[in-house]
Amino acid sequence: MFADVILPVPLDGLFTYSIPQQLTEQVRVGVRLLVPFGRSKAYVGIAAEIHNRAPEGYQIKDVLQVLDVKPVLLDSQLRLWRWISDYYMSPVGEVYKAALPSGLKAEDGYRPKTELYIRLTPQFDSEAALHVALNMLQRAPKQQSAFIDYLSLSSLLSSPTPSLSSRTSAPPRPRTPELTRDELLNAGHSLPVVNQLVKRGILEVYEREVGRLNHGGEPHLENIKPLSEAQQDAYNQVKFSFLKKNVTLLHGVTSSGKTEIYIHLIKNALEQKQQVLYLLPEIALTVQIMQRLQHVFGCRLGIYHSKYSDAERVEIWQKQLSACPYDVILGARSAVFLPFRNLGLVIIDEEHETSYKQQDPAPRYHARSAAIMLAQMLGAKTLLGTATPSAETYHHAKTGKYGYVPLFQRYKNIQLPEIQVVDIRDLQHRKMMNGPFSPLLLSTTREALERGDQVILFQNRRGYAPMLECKQCGWVPRCQHCDVSLTYHRHLNQLSCHYCGYTYQVPAECPACGCRDLLTRGYGTEKIEADVQDIFPEARIARMDLDTTRSRQAYERIIADFSAGRTNLLIGTQMISKGLDFDKVSVVGILNADSMLNQPDFRAFEHAFMMMSQVSGRAGRKGKRGQVILQTKTPDSPLIRQVVACDYTSFYRDLMQERSQFHYPPFVRLVYVYLKHRSDSLVEAAGLEMGRMLRQWFGARVLGPDKPAVAKVKSLSIRKLVLKLEIGLNMADVRRYLALAQQQMLHDKRYSSLQIYFDVDPL
Ligand code: ADP
Ligand code: ZN
Ligand code: ZN
Repeated sequence: MFADVILPVPLDGLFTYSIPQQLTEQVRVGVRLLVPFGRSKAYVGIAAEIHNRAPEGYQIKDVLQVLDVKPVLLDSQLRLWRWISDYYMSPVGEVYKAALPSGLKAEDGYRPKTELYIRLTPQFDSEAALHVALNMLQRAPKQQSAFIDYLSLSSLLSSPTPSLSSRTSAPPRPRTPELTRDELLNAGHSLPVVNQLVKRGILEVYEREVGRLNHGGEPHLENIKPLSEAQQDAYNQVKFSFLKKNVTLLHGVTSSGKTEIYIHLIKNALEQKQQVLYLLPEIALTVQIMQRLQHVFGCRLGIYHSKYSDAERVEIWQKQLSACPYDVILGARSAVFLPFRNLGLVIIDEEHETSYKQQDPAPRYHARSAAIMLAQMLGAKTLLGTATPSAETYHHAKTGKYGYVPLFQRYKNIQLPEIQVVDIRDLQHRKMMNGPFSPLLLSTTREALERGDQVILFQNRRGYAPMLECKQCGWVPRCQHCDVSLTYHRHLNQLSCHYCGYTYQVPAECPACGCRDLLTRGYGTEKIEADVQDIFPEARIARMDLDTTRSRQAYERIIADFSAGRTNLLIGTQMISKGLDFDKVSVVGILNADSMLNQPDFRAFEHAFMMMSQVSGRAGRKGKRGQVILQTKTPDSPLIRQVVACDYTSFYRDLMQERSQFHYPPFVRLVYVYLKHRSDSLVEAAGLEMGRMLRQWFGARVLGPDKPAVAKVKSLSIRKLVLKLEIGLNMADVRRYLALAQQQMLHDKRYSSLQIYFDVDPL
């Protein structure tokens, strides 16, 4: 027998191994196998197929070991991996790397969590011996007090003494409750004192395995809020739509109560004994939604995302394979990879969010597409929810591929926020700007803070200043490895490259002219924070961006503090735009709309519209109407007017007009082809060669090669080709040709060290 095995290597295809006689019973599809690979390596692979077709032409190696009794991967997961690998043109080994927690990928990567417990040693485990012990400790009062605390904490002292009675009866008495060493230390005893008791042979320390998953308590379905009439109507329409369509779009304005509708749908699925996958684009968001769901679904809810430790993710994975899996999984992108045996519903909240797409590394998959595919494979329904549908989704809804349910009423009919546009170019001319702040933004912020309300300021750049510049000669520090200028981080007092992460010291003087005056250019969130603190010294400011949210605890703390009013002014990047729900935010400031519009990308307008609409939606959520101050240099542009009017329909109409005229999605399918190499001249030549080859087959559908806006990253020069493929073209054929072109290039000796990869449906 032979096993075709998926290995975590960036090479195409499966690898065949022979199964030694004594292992044939144990090898099954979906179990992990230890197999030799290369000269001296062994890898943990996954058995994807078992057959008896002996491969020809090479020496076949044996499976070394079978690591699981039961499969860790279900059939449907394997199918999803293969679909992703196929569709996104990425080796299945890359999908394996992305999908499986590392603890399952390594032979001994996962360690159960243990805690240290203490107990009486056998010789002191009797009533008589306890008295001896207490006597022994009379001269060591600290130890005696620790020992007495041990006895009372473990209820050995207080309990009426059946447990302390005769030790003669054979079965050892139950030792409950058990006491951890930490519990004793927390009672005010030092480690040396406790260690002394161990040394005397009175107490002993032992290790015990404990689970990492927290248990959310009993479910309380009675906590589910009744739906308003408009919400109930939308709920019914969703249910009705599911009778005919696998995918339905719930287009509900911010604060219309989409989340409440999801909760009712989840309850309905649970009543039918089905599981639910609830995807969110951003980890920051899971904190809030988690609380809302936990309140209702308690221990039936599991959370899964990349900020959870690998060991926690292993435990959730295993729980989902067990006989009592979580019924509801709330997670970010990677949660689509979890095992589901009984999936009935997938909810993709904020479906328009671009963070659903994995950019780097491969597989460059879109979790929305992957989740829809997963649902389809398992016969589940998918609900896409958003206030600002992505162009693709809305297009599918309008053309009938997806069902469509609108909900344009906010809960309690609170009005959408009033958006006031401020022309910052004009104010700059009249010297009325205070740094990045207009007088209106400052006065509105001040009034809000004085009223006891909260304020959110949105600036889509992190760091202190996007650029340093020599006052004298205009020199700008740039990354040595990438074709970009460096961002100045004042708190760390360093320059950092946001493309490769490399950091540099801030030069004391300009290396070009020796001038000691280096000016900061532009505003990042860190500088906004510093400026705001100067202007409003009494404000309690928090900042949420990539730099302040490295850990899960940091996220949770920032959000909890703001929710509880311990902070009242939140500054952040796009992280804050995503569905956060705060009660007392009455003012939202968008500091610079133009930075979003001036991106060299056909999606810039789409992203800008969504970002501004979403950020605005954070204002005035409970109680009364919120205020948004939108600062821009182009107040009269149609897009700004559409944002102000919350006019999604006009925005979409203009967008489709432009997309169809210039041949962009959803009217064509895009594939980007990237070539990377250390040598710019080599990658230039390779790009031209690849372009020629692709044009043989695809003709004028091929554009480029071009240098992308950032043409060098991590010391690799980049060229990009664009394929615009009309809808209806056989994509399997397209992929075959692309793979062929890639192979031919890499077989050419000149180009063998080139990196070539594809980005399918790029964002
Ligand atoms: P969305 O997800 O559409 O932005 P939410 O579900 O977050 O909207 O609702 C906005 C706010 O209104 C939340 O604080 C929510 O608890 C409240 N809310 C919405 N619908 C109801 C309802 N039917 N009963 C009670 N509160 C509701
Ligand atoms: Zn200079
Ligand atoms: Zn760099």
